[in-house]
Amino acid sequence: MTSPLLDVAGVAVSPDHYIDGRRVVSAASFALQSPIDQRLLGHVGEASAGDVDVAIRAAAAAFPKWARLSAAERLPLLDRFAEEIGKRADDFCTVESNDAGVLLSRMRHGVVPRAMLNIRWFAEHALTLQDRTIATEQATHHIRHDPAGVVAVITPWNAPLMLATWKIGPALAAGNTVILKAPEWAPLTSSLLADCAAAAGLPPGVFNLLQGTGANTGAALVSDPRLARISFTGSVPTAKWIAQAAGANLVPCSLELGGKSPFIVLEDADIDNAAATGALMYRNAGQVCLAGTRLLVHEKIADRYIEALRDYVARLKVGDPRDEATEVGPIVHPRQVERVMDFINRALIGGAQLLWGGKPHPFGAQYVQPTMLTNLRQNDEIVQTEVFGPVLTLQTFANDDEAIALANGTDYGLGGVCYGETAHATAVAEQVRTGFIWVNSFGIRDLAAPFGGVKRSGIGREGGDWSFDFFCDVKDVVVPAKPFRASFSQR
Ligand code: NAD
Repeated sequence: MTSPLLDVAGVAVSPDHYIDGRRVVSAASFALQSPIDQRLLGHVGEASAGDVDVAIRAAAAAFPKWARLSAAERLPLLDRFAEEIGKRADDFCTVESNDAGVLLSRMRHGVVPRAMLNIRWFAEHALTLQDRTIATEQATHHIRHDPAGVVAVITPWNAPLMLATWKIGPALAAGNTVILKAPEWAPLTSSLLADCAAAAGLPPGVFNLLQGTGANTGAALVSDPRLARISFTGSVPTAKWIAQAAGANLVPCSLELGGKSPFIVLEDADIDNAAATGALMYRNAGQVCLAGTRLLVHEKIADRYIEALRDYVARLKVGDPRDEATEVGPIVHPRQVERVMDFINRALIGGAQLLWGGKPHPFGAQYVQPTMLTNLRQNDEIVQTEVFGPVLTLQTFANDDEAIALANGTDYGLGGVCYGETAHATAVAEQVRTGFIWVNSFGIRDLAAPFGGVKRSGIGREGGDWSFDFFCDVKDVVVPAKPFRASFSQR
C-alpha cells in the first residue's frame, strides 16, 4: 500500500519514503504548505525510528554488491540517473519552486543542469581514483579509495535538489549506499530523485529516501552506529547536535554550515560592478549560505556605492517564483519570516539605521523587503549572526587592515567577496579567514574545487577529490620493491 500521490501544480509526487527500491508508508505525517501562497501541498510521511532501522538494513544489505562494482561499472547506471533527472527537468522546476519557493528561472538554468552534472561528473571522476601509486626504493604503495559503507545525507531546505545531488553523486560513485533525509520544509524534489533512481535501474537499497523532521527522523538516523559517514548541510546548532550523536559512535561527519560572509568593496573597486553583484545577495530571498551579507565598504566611496546599490535594489522584481521575470521570491516558512523580521526589529531597537526595506513585502505573507542596515557595531547581533533572509548590513572602513579585521570579526568563515583592483583585492582576499572567497566576482563554482568553511562554518571539504577522501576509506596496499625478509633490526 502506498499513499495517494500529491498533485503539485500538475506534477504527481509521492509523499512516501523510498526504501529498498519501493515506496514505504509511515504511520505519521506532517503538513506541507507552499511558501508562495500558503496553500496546502499535502501531507508527507514522517519516518519513525523503526523506518530508519529498515532503511539502514536495506542500505547495508545492498552495500557489498554495489561496492564490488568498479567505477566503470557504476558509471552507466549513474549516467542514467542523471539522464532521468534531465528527462524530468520541468517537474523538478515546478515542484521546487512550489515547495521551497526557489525561482523557476534559477531552477531551469542553474539548479537542474547542475544536479545532473553532480551525478555525472563525480561518476566520471571516480574513474580517475583507481590505481594511484607512490613508488619508492623500498616499495610501491597502491593507494585505494575503498567505499566506506552506508552514508547518511542530510540536506537543508534552501537548495534541496542541488545539495542532495552534490553529496549523493560522489557517495554513490565511490561505491557507498545512501540514505537521504530530506528537509521537512522542502521535501518534494527529493521524492522525485527517488523516482529517477528507480527509473535508472539503481539496484534496490543503493539509494534510499527518508522523509521526516530533523527532531525525529534526522535524530534517529544520525545516532545509528551502523552508519559509515554522515554528510550534513545545515545550521550550526543542528551541526553541534549531529557531531555529538556521531561522536558517540565515532562516525566521521562532514559539516557544511552557515555563513556571515564579508563583501568587501575597496577604494579602487569598480563601483557599478560591485553594486550589481551586491544586489545578487538578495537572490533566493537571501536564503543562500554563501551570500556576502556583510558589506564592508571603504569610507571614501561609501556614499557613491550605497546610491549605486540602491538603484539596483530598487529595480529588483520581487514576486512569484514561478514567474520567469521574478528575481526575489518568498521566504520558505512562516517561522523563518518571523525570525527574519525579529532580527530586523531587534537591530533597529539597538540603534541600527535602515537604508532601505525593513518591512514585510506587500506581495504576500511570506515576503520581506530587501533590507539594508547600517550604523552598526561589530558585536551587534545583526553583524554576528546569520539571518538567512533578504537582510544585508553595511559597515565602512578606512584602510585594508581595518577591512580585514572586520571581515574576520565573526565566528563564521564560509565565503567572501572582494572587489577592487585585481592584485589589491587578491592580496586582501588572501587574508580573510574563510573556506573560499571570490575576487571581483561571485558564485563561480567548479566541481573539481574544494568547498566548505572554517571556524563555525563547518568541518571538512567536499568537491573533487575531497569528496572521495571523505566518502571513502583511503587504504595503502604496500608491496615491497625487493623480496622482504623479517628481521628484528628492521627500522
Ligand atoms: P537546519 O540545521 O535546521 O536543518 C538542516 C537539516 O537537518 C534538515 O533536513 C533538518 O531536518 C535536519 N535536522 C534538524 N535537526 C536534526 C537533528 N537533531 N538530527 C539530524 N538532522 C536534523 O538548517 P536549515 O534551516 O534547514 O538550513 C539553513 C541552514 O543551512 C543555514 O544555516 C545555511 O547557512 C545552511 N546552509 C549551508 C550550506 C553550505 O554549503 N555551507 C548550504 C546551504 C545551507
